[in-house]
Amino acid sequence: MPVGDYVWMDLRSGQEFDVPIGAVVKLCDSGQIQVVDDEGNEHWISPQSATHIKPMHPTSVHGVEDMIRLGDLNEAGILRNLLIRYRDHLIYTYTGSILVAVNPYQLLSIYSPEHIRQYTNKKIGEMPPHIFAIADNCYFNMKRNSRDQCCIISGESGAGKTESTKLILQFLAAISGQHSWIEQQVLEATPILEAFGNAKTIRNDNSSRFGKYIDIHFNKRGAIEGAKIEQYLLEKSRVCRQAPDERNYHVFYCMLEGMSEDQKKRLGLGQASEYNYLAMGNCITCEGRVDSQEYANIRSAMKVLMFTDTENWEISKLLAAILHLGNLQYEARTFENLDACEVLFSPSLATAASLLEVNSPDLMSCLTSRTLITRGETVSTPLSREQALDVRDAFVKGIYGRLFVWIVDKINAAIYKPPSQEVKNSRRSIGLLDIFGFENFAVNSFEQLCINFANEHLQQFFVRHVFKLEQEEYDLESIDWLHIEFTDNQDALDMIANKPMNIISLIDEESKFPKGTDTTMLHKLNSQHKLNANYIPPKNNHETQFGINHFAGVVYYETQGFLEKNRDTLHGDIIQLVHSSRNKFIKQIFQADVAMGAETRKRSPTLSSQFKRSLELLMRTLGACQPFFVRCIKPNEFKKPMLFDRHLCVRQLRYSGMMETIRIRRAGYPIRYSFVEFVERYRVLLPGVKPAYKQGDLQGTCQRIAETVLGTHDDWQIGRTKIFLKDHHDMLLEVERDKA
Ligand code: ATP
Ligand code: MG
Repeated sequence: MPVGDYVWMDLRSGQEFDVPIGAVVKLCDSGQIQVVDDEGNEHWISPQSATHIKPMHPTSVHGVEDMIRLGDLNEAGILRNLLIRYRDHLIYTYTGSILVAVNPYQLLSIYSPEHIRQYTNKKIGEMPPHIFAIADNCYFNMKRNSRDQCCIISGESGAGKTESTKLILQFLAAISGQHSWIEQQVLEATPILEAFGNAKTIRNDNSSRFGKYIDIHFNKRGAIEGAKIEQYLLEKSRVCRQAPDERNYHVFYCMLEGMSEDQKKRLGLGQASEYNYLAMGNCITCEGRVDSQEYANIRSAMKVLMFTDTENWEISKLLAAILHLGNLQYEARTFENLDACEVLFSPSLATAASLLEVNSPDLMSCLTSRTLITRGETVSTPLSREQALDVRDAFVKGIYGRLFVWIVDKINAAIYKPPSQEVKNSRRSIGLLDIFGFENFAVNSFEQLCINFANEHLQQFFVRHVFKLEQEEYDLESIDWLHIEFTDNQDALDMIANKPMNIISLIDEESKFPKGTDTTMLHKLNSQHKLNANYIPPKNNHETQFGINHFAGVVYYETQGFLEKNRDTLHGDIIQLVHSSRNKFIKQIFQADVAMGAETRKRSPTLSSQFKRSLELLMRTLGACQPFFVRCIKPNEFKKPMLFDRHLCVRQLRYSGMMETIRIRRAGYPIRYSFVEFVERYRVLLPGVKPAYKQGDLQGTCQRIAETVLGTHDDWQIGRTKIFLKDHHDMLLEVERDKA
């Protein structure tokens, strides 16, 4: 093996996310080969283990801008390509129509107004890969084809979805070029959503705890004329509980740092460290964030979006009430031989009651007892300390969740203009989806099921799109593509949400069934699906988890707590309490619940049915658009620049579903050369063939070379502008070329 040659080394450690690594030959000595791998480690390879090394395809040596052109079109090839580009600060790379973005964790000077100008009105591929190129294509495709566009941005927490979304928005605002009031309003929606929906987590200092779809509307001339925001699945539990080193939603800390002393006094507020709900994660501040400054930004953004001073104050009152509720002290008691408890009288109780504008004793009894109606009789039963804490937390989550929905509605009221009849056909839109990617944690619960369900949908959409593009290319080139087969994830989706008795519907049914428990639910799932190949039943009767074979791998779901999370209801006493309040704002955000009265538990839609519905709507919207895909990759777990963890990245590549594109490509003809490229590269294989620029009939020459080297009967095809080959043809050609 010649010194300086690049090879793939397959060391087979047997780990889940291990793939061959690239290496360069340093020495070749009496059969022994010394190589240095991409991470700088040296290896001596004996002749016996030489089977573990394979020559690297020339396209992999220095990397390519579009990975679909890689000869080594596999995980190892893609990973190495991303790695060597990342080391050169080239964080963007295409894979066909997908943009892969590796989080640089440092400010790169590639987003200036000059860059915006350079990327404006260019074809993909004309400039180096960039998020602006995607934004530019969305915009000009929209104008040229009069068709709505969408951009699906996915990746795991901290991978850069939200930053990418903001960059696209920034680009669109710049090139649509009016600097209008409405444009500013659309941009200012982001800091508000982030204040109420983002938090510091161990994975990301500004983690979005909800999914969102921003649909930006453009008029005939291409100027922004409005937008509409849809939100999905806010993580409400964070308001009451944070893991170590994590924070509650930014807005709480900002408020405590940024509000005037006088206002704080009126809300009975002190320092963040005084509140259980803020101090639980042992993390009050967040490096790089100045909460007081952020508060000023939030306030000014809210002004731009027409939040009145009164509304702001009402929001602050509810946020303060939440903090005071979190500081209530409970003491366990027994009452007539029942477990009961008592809220200790404290300033927190009185302040919470006054901010919620309810009577203190009413609040107290709501938090410590429950009214049951049996045969027309109302009985009040005490709650144990544990139950009482749950009721309090449920109330707080209920308030915050509804507040968030109200805020999104309020933003939409400012930026969304329903299209009038006359502009209905001329209005165009670009939608940006910033949504959690596939998740597989040590313990997965109902939330992960919802998220992964969404990702199954998006994956299907993606695969079908990629397949369609492939077919279009083959059609365009008059290539016979009939024999290409691919399977998408329809079966898994059917089992989760489509077929009768699907998983979501069974969970829902059990949630509505008064005697339903997590265990009875699991029994039903088992008896219905145990024979389905995509379902993994518990190993024995004691196990409380089931598995689903998702497109990205098997995920086990822990069923404990499923039904409660899915029901997502507040008990009647709390609704009654809100109803009795003199605070109009809280009544407004609970409007729908109050209207349902005592029936809430039976009538309010479950979380999964709501989510399923909004997902179906989203899929319908996306289906009418021309899509772009951005896959964000987090290169390491430490939020550090220039650190590329190969295993972590392979996992994300797998979870991103991107390998499916490659599978589709490989099922057909993965290797394509334009006639010029092919003749230039392989004319050495046929004596007397002139350089491409001297050729009259390039297609014929390609055909002659291919027939001579590959034979007439093998499965390669000549299209209108390109030659289409299988991997082994490429290999054969390369081997022959090396010999020549
Ligand atoms: P989550 O799912 O938790 O919301 P996310 O995918 O939205 O995660 P971001 O918040 O967009 O992740 O990015 C996390 C952090 O990574 C940012 O706060 C920023 O520090 C850094 N980052 C992301 N993209 C870029 C970029 N293009 N340039 C510089 N830094 C970036
Ligand atoms: Mg985010």
